[in-house]
Amino acid sequence: MELTVLGCGDAFGNGGRNNTSFLVTEAGEHVLIDCGASTLIRLKYEKIDLEAISTIVISHFHGDHYGGIPFILISSLFEKPRKNPLTIVGPEGVKKRVYELQEAMYIGTADQLDELDLKFVEYKHEESLSLGDKSISVWKVEHSPPSLPHGIRLEWHGKKIAFSGDTSWTENLLPLSRGTDLFICECNFQKEVSFGHLSYEELLRKHQLFETKSLWLNHMANEVFDATDFKFNRLYDGQKIRI
Ligand SMILES: [Zn+2]
Repeated sequence: MELTVLGCGDAFGNGGRNNTSFLVTEAGEHVLIDCGASTLIRLKYEKIDLEAISTIVISHFHGDHYGGIPFILISSLFEKPRKNPLTIVGPEGVKKRVYELQEAMYIGTADQLDELDLKFVEYKHEESLSLGDKSISVWKVEHSPPSLPHGIRLEWHGKKIAFSGDTSWTENLLPLSRGTDLFICECNFQKEVSFGHLSYEELLRKHQLFETKSLWLNHMANEVFDATDFKFNRLYDGQKIRI
């Protein structure tokens, strides 16, 4: 199994890094975890066949995490008409939110989404969804409440990959990370912040509470990405991690 980092930047595009998106690949099938606004551009750069993406899982309703979905859908409608089904998994109301975003970005196209074989699946805190050979478990995290923020764990072909989403420190990160082969945790800032994001200083104090084989940081402002004497692994766009 391989994870390709399509984007690991923050919401402001700092350092020219793309918005959050990870492509997990096994036996020619792709699962997309988050789909920020820049995701289609990086998918094209990586020469990924969109037909081979079976599932998109969204951590919360912020543009740098789900704003790329309409670009994938217009490509699937008009550029290369999609034949395969596509499952979009997200917080409560995911179908309505995707349709509203589609209409806002490409007016008149939301009605045409019915031409695609789309399936929308809502998840709930501490529940596990079974989607064919995949299991997706989620925990609520601490971020802008209207965005319905969650951390996501994907179990597929015997591997466990977890992603914190955007969050302040929360005890829910512990069951999320437990027993994982790879845990991607956000780290937006160097020093303490009040709400909604984690910092390097806080992770230095608490990272040993995570139970994962491999910890990598995501959603970094320049002060984190460019820091020297840094104790954790930092993702970079285009990186491929074997799991
Ligand atoms: Zn966010």
